[in-house]
Amino acid sequence: MVKRREKTDEGGDGLPPASIRLTSPYDTDARWTAKRDTFWNGFKVHISETCATAADDAARPAPAPTAKAAARTPHGRKPDRAPRRPNLITNVATTASTLPDSKALEGIHQSQQRRGLLPDEHYLDSGYPSAELITGSLARYGVALITPVLLDTSRQAKAKEGFAAHDFTIDWQTQQATCPAGKTSATWNPVVQAGVPKTVVTFAALDCIPCPYRQQCTSAKSNRRQLSLHPREMTQALRHARAQQQTKDWNTDYALRAGVEGTIRQAAAVTDMHHARYRGLAKTHLEHVFSAVALNLLRLDAWWNGHPLDRTRTSHLARLELSLAA
Ligand code: SF4
Repeated sequence: MVKRREKTDEGGDGLPPASIRLTSPYDTDARWTAKRDTFWNGFKVHISETCATAADDAARPAPAPTAKAAARTPHGRKPDRAPRRPNLITNVATTASTLPDSKALEGIHQSQQRRGLLPDEHYLDSGYPSAELITGSLARYGVALITPVLLDTSRQAKAKEGFAAHDFTIDWQTQQATCPAGKTSATWNPVVQAGVPKTVVTFAALDCIPCPYRQQCTSAKSNRRQLSLHPREMTQALRHARAQQQTKDWNTDYALRAGVEGTIRQAAAVTDMHHARYRGLAKTHLEHVFSAVALNLLRLDAWWNGHPLDRTRTSHLARLELSLAA
């Protein structure tokens, strides 16, 4: 449809939203988008791969090396454990570049489920999760999301002073909240905010106005503290996730996700995945699948032939020293 650009009263320039705005006469599926300081015209690709913890690797016994593998062990050293199993790409999803990551996750899980490749735990960056996805992925697919969730964005939580929502005790049975001053809420109202079901909990002005903590608790003109809660499972999941991600163990475990950054770099360097050779979403997706297959074959070839996958770079000088010492 061709439509005249009309400036809007709100100061808009009359352009349609980025998700439907054509950006190329040659590829009507491509869209302009930006992530931090990167701008590109085209699509977005989401890569999922297997990953193993150091403990998983350490638990594997060292194999008897084949002649070929032994010959390729650097400087004649014998491996003391099995070489790391390669991370293999299990799913590639290509979407419009304007689609938020969180909206792509359901399709990724459906695709993995179709092929029997759903993981028990899915490590994701912070662009993917939402309260609904954390509970929904577990309920629908049995997949626990390991991902940093947005911290509490309330004024009190951001300022790290006063009472944030997690300082209140919620009793879902009796539908009441108790504040840090020990007062119980006066009303519990289910509402829909921006299409999302929530519960607004309000404390009584009779309790809040004389409260010595009022300045720390609320700046509302009504002088009453209100909480806006997700449904029970989501609130509990969010609180649990926020508490978990403050711990050292969680952060150590989450470091496992960083491996996929290497895969993205390898996909760009080896298969030039950042440049679409074809037009349209469907053909670009096919190109991404071919790239993933190529990377899997490269990794399997390296593994089967005894090339260490996690070898660190040894400088020329260090190599010379090692060969002189041998
Ligand atoms: S202001 Fe109201 S909700 Fe906040 S601590 Fe005091 S009584 Fe409780």
